[in-house]
Amino acid sequence: RAKEKGRNDFQIFNSDMKSVSINRLKLENELRRAIIGEEFVLLYQPQVDIETGRIVGVEALIRWAHPEKGLISPNHFISFAEESGLIVPIGEWVLRAACKQNKIWQNQGFPKMPISVNLSMRQFFQHNLKGKISHVLEQTGLDPQYLELEITESMTMDVDHAIQSLLELKELGVHVSIDDFGTGYSSLYYLKKFPIDKLKIDRSFVRDIMEDPNDAAIVATIIAMTHHLNLKVIAEGVETEEQLHFLHQNRCNEVQGYWFSPPVNADQLEDMLSHGVPAAASGEGR
Ligand code: C2E
Ligand code: MG
Ligand code: MG
Ligand code: MG
Repeated sequence: RAKEKGRNDFQIFNSDMKSVSINRLKLENELRRAIIGEEFVLLYQPQVDIETGRIVGVEALIRWAHPEKGLISPNHFISFAEESGLIVPIGEWVLRAACKQNKIWQNQGFPKMPISVNLSMRQFFQHNLKGKISHVLEQTGLDPQYLELEITESMTMDVDHAIQSLLELKELGVHVSIDDFGTGYSSLYYLKKFPIDKLKIDRSFVRDIMEDPNDAAIVATIIAMTHHLNLKVIAEGVETEEQLHFLHQNRCNEVQGYWFSPPVNADQLEDMLSHGVPAAASGEGR
């Protein structure tokens, strides 16, 4: 039920097949309109160096600023956008908006840091992905080293395609991380062959590290593995000081989560870049 809701909140009030398809059509039309009218906004969540407490990166997260429904979470439209193919223009908008914003921060004199953008499956399998990304970088003037692309394990199932695409991205000079690490099927054998920079430990493991010794062991092991493979590692969904302490003790490089900040708008992110992340924050506060 929750999953169904996550996939498409336009279909939950009636499970009748006919209204499901009418609702999908309605959603598709609304999304098309949203793409033309650029009804999307990006929020930014800081990524914090665990040693210094400084912001060393930021993840761009999309919201749909719906004229009647207000800000809609990506969980309610991204999978539909993926199924319908609309994710491609949406993803391009995200990429351009994120690069543009990062360039603005650099021009304002903030310390340079990479901005992470979530890539969808369709984008990753898009023809000439490298050319498209390179075009956006040229248009926005962002140096490729300040763009990080997040892919998920499921996108690496076609190993040959993944290696080929990742090598092209590497040539371009952008960084690549594996998002939600540990939740998908990834072969450790291939992990070492993929030219990636960073693993993002999924927040489902981080959530229970203080209560569940298995999760604690998994997180500690992933961190140790990344050090051996010369990859960077970031923990997602850090909400408490105890989790932070555990991650620090286990030599995790970076952390991201409500303990520092929920995703915020560009102005609020600038405040944090100027004054540091608040000691604690909780909930998305929106
Ligand atoms: P993700 O890439 O794994 O992003 C992290 C999600 O966890 C974000 O949800 C963020 O708000 C949330 N989060 C961060 N810290 C905490 C925490 O401490 N506790 C909890 N409970 N949650 C935390 P959000 O923004 O709703 O995004 C959900 C997912 O939607 C993302 O997961 C990503 O898979 C997808 N998504 C978001 N923006 C884009 C986009 O521009 N393109 C694509 N293709 N997918 C996107
Ligand atoms: Mg992500
Ligand atoms: Mg994630
Ligand atoms: Mg994700």
